[in-house]
Amino acid sequence: MRHFPVFVNLDGRRVVVSGAGETAVAKLRLLLKTRARISVFGGDPEPLVRQWAADGRITLTERPIETGDALCASLFYAANDDADEDARAASIGHRASALVNIVDNLEDSQFITPAIVDRDPVTVAIGTEGAAPVLARKIKADLEERLPASLGLLARIGQAFRARADMLGDSKKRRAFWTKFYFGAGDRALKAGGEEAVRATLETLFTDGIETRQGPGSVTFVGAGPGDPELLTLKARNALHEADVVLHDRLVPQPIIELARREAIIVETGKKGFGEAWKQDDINALMIDHADKGAHVVRLKSGDPAVFGRLEEELDALDEAGIGFEIVPGITSASAAVASIGRSLTRRGRNASLRIITGHDAEGFADHDWRALARPGEAAAIYMGIKAASFLRGRLLMHGADAETPVTVVENASRADQRVVAATLGALPDALTDAGITGPAVLLYGIAPRGTEAALATVAQSHQEAEAV
Ligand code: SAH
Repeated sequence: MRHFPVFVNLDGRRVVVSGAGETAVAKLRLLLKTRARISVFGGDPEPLVRQWAADGRITLTERPIETGDALCASLFYAANDDADEDARAASIGHRASALVNIVDNLEDSQFITPAIVDRDPVTVAIGTEGAAPVLARKIKADLEERLPASLGLLARIGQAFRARADMLGDSKKRRAFWTKFYFGAGDRALKAGGEEAVRATLETLFTDGIETRQGPGSVTFVGAGPGDPELLTLKARNALHEADVVLHDRLVPQPIIELARREAIIVETGKKGFGEAWKQDDINALMIDHADKGAHVVRLKSGDPAVFGRLEEELDALDEAGIGFEIVPGITSASAAVASIGRSLTRRGRNASLRIITGHDAEGFADHDWRALARPGEAAAIYMGIKAASFLRGRLLMHGADAETPVTVVENASRADQRVVAATLGALPDALTDAGITGPAVLLYGIAPRGTEAALATVAQSHQEAEAV
């Protein structure tokens, strides 16, 4: 971001515009929305500029700008429609230490004016760093349509009520109060009975707010999906918008965490490699502590919270503490992994069942029914299986699995850095080492990427031939 958006208070500040033609008129229309003291310099002014001057809304000097004319200006616009004149004017602005904008000259401007959607006091500023004015115009048009004209009026009436609303005390009640006002009650009242009705509605909502007792907090377990923010459910998004506290695992990527409400307290509860690690009891205690204080806690877990997410351990702790919960399922990484290779997790005639297993459990490498898994036509999605790959291979081969059973490794499924390694059970540990798989990965045992069976069969063939030699 080269241009940092800010809203400048122009009350009583001086703004100087060099130029009085059409280009200047366009800027003046915007500037006249403020309470700045506007001085315009330029010969042959547009009639509208003359009119504004006659109405006392600007001061107009009908000659080109000269040194000394821009003294004490906060902002300076060079809007002469003439590059040489703009350059001359800009240097006068610079000398007066004003911030200078040259219209349609991004490179030489110190600031730019965004496209604006005006629902004063709600103002939306849209900037594209000059890269795509068409896009800015389209976004502006969309927003103009989406934001009701009454929004500004509601916000102005609401603004006058802020001090009263602060008396509601805690931020949760205040938020609930304003949410009801802006998203429903306010607009309905305005349509039904105008400004008076809006004020009456504020009073009613306020009384309701004062009388509601602080409800107990709760915990929502939210599946964050495999990493791509677009794979979040709508429910997950809404829960993040509403959260007072977000406790998230290490695997949840930043773009998803950023969807949380700006004021939310955000805590990462993941294991930090060899560094400090959160114990399950600490996480439970933190979750309960916040919920006890009335907070709405979102427990954000990668994938689906119900798959290798210690969900039930945390639910037990909440039950014991008498705290309510809700579970929002997410897309588990096996689903994202199999989607990335154009396959399904089950297929008639190939595998009618799928095991979801882990390579690791609390005791170390996890044991499973290897004999069953080694049978032809079995398939499994193996989580946390990278470090256990040699162990898995050994156990499966020992129980009679075919060394050529396809195993597809999908690392960072659904993320920009996703990688797929098509291997066979026999070659799995080497394939992992060769590819240098380090990120979170799912092993799809018994499922090859679409269209690779033939290639894998050839590899297997040459493998066997080489061994035969
Ligand atoms: N609840 C999660 C699993 C958490 S256990 C889910 O439903 O996906 C952590 C394991 O999940 C990792 O070791 C890895 O095997 C898998 N995993 C998580 N995110 C992944 C991703 N984006 N791509 C591949 N595997 C992933």
